[in-house]
Amino acid sequence: MPYDYDQQNIFAKILRGEIPNRTVRETEHTLAFEDIRPQAPVHVLVIPKGAYVNFDHFGAEATEAEIVDFTRVVAAICAERGVAPGGAGEGYRLISNSGESGAQEVPHMHVHILGGRGLGRMLEPA
Ligand code: AMP
Repeated sequence: MPYDYDQQNIFAKILRGEIPNRTVRETEHTLAFEDIRPQAPVHVLVIPKGAYVNFDHFGAEATEAEIVDFTRVVAAICAERGVAPGGAGEGYRLISNSGESGAQEVPHMHVHILGGRGLGRMLEPA
């Protein structure tokens, strides 16, 4: 099934400057901003500027430049926020909710960076 990108989703509006955001970092291909409903002391969303619906869309169709840029931004934020174990931080979790089973709320590819507290196990038992 082809990926059907909704130009009216809230992150598309953020990228067009139609609604505000608390920007953490911006590069040629990537924007990172604070989640509006933080679930941990560190809760940053990282999105590509391109019109990708979810992670598998991004991984399949983004350019290498976009993928590298995105990955570098995630790493830079983990370092900057002091959660990267490589920088003596206590760790973090990356989440990319995708589709219905993934309970994705906003249909623009994004990764949550969560940290600054113990995050427990990844999933509750079904
Ligand atoms: P999900 O699609 O389930 O991965 O979650 C989307 C995330 O976007 C949620 O954590 C929301 O709190 C967050 N969110 C929704 N609208 C905004 C906004 N305008 N600014 C920042 N974060 C937002």
